[in-house]
Amino acid sequence: MSTTTISIIKKHYRLFRPISTSKSTASSSSQKHTRYYGFIPEPAIKNFFTGRIWSRMNTPYPQSKIETYIKRGYFDITPAVITEPKLKCRRCLNEQRPKFISFHCAKCQKTCHYCRHCITMGRMCSCDELIMWKKEQPRSRMQKSQVDFTWTGKLTVHQQKAADELLTSLKQNRNHLIHAVCGAGKTEILFAPIYASLKAGKRVCVATPRTDVVLELYPRFQQVFQQITIHALYGGAQNDTQFAQLILATTHQLYRFENAFDVMIVDEADAFPYTYDEALQRAVMKARKAKAPIAFVTATPSTKLLIQQRNEKWGYSFIARRFHGQLLPVPRYQALWNYEKVFYKEKIPQKLKNWVEQRLQNQQPFLIFFPTIELMEQATPLFQHIEPTIESVHSEDPDRKEKVMQLRNEERKGLLTTTILERGITIKNVQVAVVGADNPVFTSSALIQISGRVGRNMHYPSGDIVFFHHGITMEMDQARKKILEMNYYE
Ligand SMILES: [Zn+2]
Ligand SMILES: [Zn+2]
Repeated sequence: MSTTTISIIKKHYRLFRPISTSKSTASSSSQKHTRYYGFIPEPAIKNFFTGRIWSRMNTPYPQSKIETYIKRGYFDITPAVITEPKLKCRRCLNEQRPKFISFHCAKCQKTCHYCRHCITMGRMCSCDELIMWKKEQPRSRMQKSQVDFTWTGKLTVHQQKAADELLTSLKQNRNHLIHAVCGAGKTEILFAPIYASLKAGKRVCVATPRTDVVLELYPRFQQVFQQITIHALYGGAQNDTQFAQLILATTHQLYRFENAFDVMIVDEADAFPYTYDEALQRAVMKARKAKAPIAFVTATPSTKLLIQQRNEKWGYSFIARRFHGQLLPVPRYQALWNYEKVFYKEKIPQKLKNWVEQRLQNQQPFLIFFPTIELMEQATPLFQHIEPTIESVHSEDPDRKEKVMQLRNEERKGLLTTTILERGITIKNVQVAVVGADNPVFTSSALIQISGRVGRNMHYPSGDIVFFHHGITMEMDQARKKILEMNYYE
C-alpha cells in the first residue's frame, strides 16, 4: 500500500470515526486513540501552546476547553513549584532555598511554596499547575514559499562577513558571538541568517534584556518578514494567540517557554539584568530546544562571555567599524565639581548649562544621563526653565516610548534620562552628556553604550559626547580606552 493511500485512509478514519466510541473507555491507550482519530485540535489552541509553559488556570481560553484538551491528553502537567527531592521552580528553574516562600495555603490546606524570583510573572505555588503542549511543532508544514524576505538594504563588507559566519554557525548548530561596535548595524546582520532559518522551517527567538530594544526591533523585523507571524513579548504586552515562527521577547518572557526554539539569538547579551541574573540565563537555555544554537550579539561582551566563546569554540565575528565607516566618537572629560550640591541649591552647574545652551543654539537634539532618578527629578524643572520641552524618562515611566519618539520627531529639544536609554535607541544627530560619569552605575560598558548613541546616522557621523564628573574613575578611563582601541583597529 502506498503512503498516499494510507494517509487517505487515516484522513477518512479521522473524519468518520464516532467520537462517542472512544469516550466511553478510560484507559490511557484509548485516550491516545481519541487524541489521534476522534478529535482534531483547534489550530488556534495548538498554535498558542506550542513551546509554551503556561498556568493551567489562567489561559486566554475558556477553562472548560482547556480541561477537555487536558482530558484528551494534549498537555503535560507539572506543579509550578516541584517539592521533591528539593524545591525547584518549574518556570524559572530557581533552586535557591532562600528565594522560596513557604506558607500555609488556603487552597490546598497544606504548607505550600512559591518562588519569589519570578513572581513578577504572577505568583504560582506548589499546588498550582503549569501545562505544556505535548505535540511537536507544526514545523514540517512550513513551506519555503511562506517566508518572504523584503529587505533591500545593502550590507557593508564587515556586516556581510559577520552574517556569513553566523549563518555557518547556525547551520552547524554551533553557538556564536557577534562582537560589534555600537552602530555597526547588528540588526541587519541578523536578517539573512534568520531568513535562512525561517525558510528551513525553524522557529526563531530574538531575546533581549530590555523592553526598549524589543520595541525598537519589532517594526524593523515586521518590515523585513512581512508574511510571517511575529510576536513582540514584554511585560504588559498582549497575548497573541497565533503561532509565531519568529518571536522577539524580553529575557523575562522566556520563563513562559520550554523546548520551543530551534535558533536562539540573545541581543545586547551583556545588558542588565541578564548579566547578573543566572535564572534569566537558564531561561534562555530552557526556552531553546536541546541542541539549538545560541547566538550572542553585543558591543560590550563581558570577559566571562569572551572566555566561554574561546573555551567552547563558538563561532566568532568581530566588527570594529560602524556601518557608515566613520570612527566612533571619543568621549571627552569635563570636571563638574560638587554637581549634586549645586543641583540641590536649585541651580544647574555652569558648564553643563553652557553645554545645553550651545545645543539649543545649534538646534541639536540631546540626551543627558543622570546616575539616579532623584537627582534627575531635582534637575528637571531647572532645565525646563531654560527650555520647556525638556523632559525626563526613567524605567518606571509609562510615557517613555512617547517621549523618545517626540525627541526623534524634534518636538522636544532634549531628554534627561537614567541608564535606561543607554542602548537600543537611535536618534539622528543626538549629542550626549553624562552627569556624574564617576558614579558607580556608570560602568565602562554602560559608558561605551551611552557614547555609542552619538554619530549613528550616515549624515551625522560625529557629535559631542562629554563625561561631566567629580573625579575621573577607572571605568571612565577604560571606556575611553576601549573606544580608542576600536578606532585604531584595522
Ligand atoms: Zn521561579
Ligand atoms: Zn497550595
